[in-house]
Amino acid sequence: MSCSAEKFRHLYIESSILDHPETKRIRSLFPNAVCIPVERYTDVFSRPHQSYRAQYASMNLILAEKHGTAVYPGAPVCHDFGSERFFYTAMAVNCLYDCSYCWLKGMYNTANLVIFINLEKAFEETEKLLEEGPLYLSLSFESDLVPLETLTHQIQRWNEFVKRHPGLSTEIRTKCGADSIYASLDPDPGMIFAFTLSPQSVINALEKGTASLHERLKAAGTAMEQGFPIRLCFDPMIRIPNWKEEYAGMVLEVSKQLDLSRVKDISIGTYRQSDTYQRRMRKRFPASAVIQYPYETKNGYCQYPEAEKNEMEQFLKQELIPFAGEEKIFLLEDNS
Ligand code: SF4
Repeated sequence: MSCSAEKFRHLYIESSILDHPETKRIRSLFPNAVCIPVERYTDVFSRPHQSYRAQYASMNLILAEKHGTAVYPGAPVCHDFGSERFFYTAMAVNCLYDCSYCWLKGMYNTANLVIFINLEKAFEETEKLLEEGPLYLSLSFESDLVPLETLTHQIQRWNEFVKRHPGLSTEIRTKCGADSIYASLDPDPGMIFAFTLSPQSVINALEKGTASLHERLKAAGTAMEQGFPIRLCFDPMIRIPNWKEEYAGMVLEVSKQLDLSRVKDISIGTYRQSDTYQRRMRKRFPASAVIQYPYETKNGYCQYPEAEKNEMEQFLKQELIPFAGEEKIFLLEDNS
């Protein structure tokens, strides 16, 4: 999936950036779209009584300027891979993909896609943070940037930025199978491409629009051959029927397609969600088994009961160890 010229029928653009070169470039990609100037993007994005489900089918694009903060401290339920200073930025919000468990569906009322065109704001804040020491920065926290690259050029621009800032380690997490992007970038140890992997049955049922497991592994192999550090994220694990067989089979497939001794690291995490978002999602998606599962709430987050969570994470870890070794496998509790 990518952004064809017909993808968006309406472009909402903040009046203050109508003449910005990035706005003009992006606008030219959608010659048939109706452009509607707005004062602030929130006039459209944060409107009450919107329906994520209805809007997803005919998503609109919103171009905006980021005000306030652009780089935030990372949440405790996210892997920080041993980094003392973990931050994230979200210069694109919402996603071309449609994962049933996506937290964005609990966080926002709308499926409309927002692109902040002033990436230099995130660059400036990152440079300030780098003055205090090395930084680990997640670049794709509220979207999947890879399928959006022809539209945003954000990965290309971060690539140039990373090359100039040796203390910076960035992560771009994706479920995209397109592999042509990697040849157009300049590999750097500070630019980690992280591929989220799930059994094909989970992809079919819960990760609508995303690449197949085979395609993701092929893209990961291409990125690795180009010289990028590769991270594999088995996250979120979902307790589907026959989950042990499904996850064990997936590990075998992964090990056949990728040399796991060459990946930088691996993360394992089970489904978890802010209690607030989970409550909203339960109302919005009453027929979704993954949302309606009887999770337990701990420290403000919904998750599998401790025993189930540990069983799942340890099972997958043991399946992976023969291929990847133990040292490079991160579980969430390893962060503490
Ligand atoms: S790829 Fe990530 S951001 Fe996109 S819908 Fe799925 S979980 Fe959400």
